[in-house]
Amino acid sequence: MRQVRIAAGRRAELVERPTPGLRDGWALVRIDAAPLCAEYKLFRSGRTGESLGHEAAGTVVECAGRTAVQPGDRVVVMPQYPCGTCDHCRSGEYIYCEDNLDDDAGTMAEYIAKPAWLLVPIPADVPTHLGALACCGLGPSYGALARASASAGATLLVTGLGPVGLGAVVNGVYRGLRVIGVDGNAYRAALARDLGAVAVLDPNDPDVLAQIRALSGGRGPGVGVDCSGHVDAHRLQLDAAARRACVVLVGESNEATPIRVSPDLIRKGLTVMGSWHYSLTDVPNVMRVIGEFPGVERLITHRFPFDRVQEAFEVSESQQCAKVILHPFGEMT
Ligand SMILES: [Zn+2]
Ligand SMILES: [Zn+2]
Repeated sequence: MRQVRIAAGRRAELVERPTPGLRDGWALVRIDAAPLCAEYKLFRSGRTGESLGHEAAGTVVECAGRTAVQPGDRVVVMPQYPCGTCDHCRSGEYIYCEDNLDDDAGTMAEYIAKPAWLLVPIPADVPTHLGALACCGLGPSYGALARASASAGATLLVTGLGPVGLGAVVNGVYRGLRVIGVDGNAYRAALARDLGAVAVLDPNDPDVLAQIRALSGGRGPGVGVDCSGHVDAHRLQLDAAARRACVVLVGESNEATPIRVSPDLIRKGLTVMGSWHYSLTDVPNVMRVIGEFPGVERLITHRFPFDRVQEAFEVSESQQCAKVILHPFGEMT
């Protein structure tokens, strides 16, 4: 089968690899749609990479042993290789499993083998490539808003409007929240407005905090989701948040964010938490967002057949895009 690798000198290319074999309880999936995520950072660095990608939707072609899915089923491929038996896995929060299997197959390939319980069916009325939004397009922010127990009418501040942040706009609007976005990228700001954000502010504007306050009744947003991973955005979330608000951090960061315990947390009564993905028990709800949100396909701005993988990475790196999807078999499913 063909698989994507990144070669030195910013070249994304296809290489031939053996099609993976199955273990008992596993299934082989023909990948019809493989969204790009943060792999552009590796591409941009000029370093090399194999087994890329963690997002996919496709069609089951073969099963080993007893599995809930059958050949012909269209499925979303959930990330990681969690153990399936620990408390986190059993509760649906498999993403936090500490006993991941020793597998690292990438989704930017023609086929992937997975434990069948990590393959979730796509409803009949949802096209396969839209089903792939149940990965990082809509997943992280769905999990964040579920954990924040965000209810209709609240104001939601989304910092960072990359594909995950734009997904947060969709999930926020779907839940009936008033969404304020923050991002300096004009292309993505326009798309966020189009998806229903009431305002999109520039983080470099010196009075951005005052603007957020003015747009949220003077008290600040009741819910915040950071999808940027930037320290400045973390601080903006903490400073803007209303008293007793909930701020959920979704954007990855290895930087240290300064937090003053009394003024930031105790005196404001803030709840601050991190959230990676969403519970397997919420899959039907995420599929409902995909099926019901008007024009959800606007989250996908570019689709490329496999042999244009170089172009796909260049578009992803340009950040003049939302979700970029590869089609290993060239069909725009
Ligand atoms: Zn586990
Ligand atoms: Zn992702």
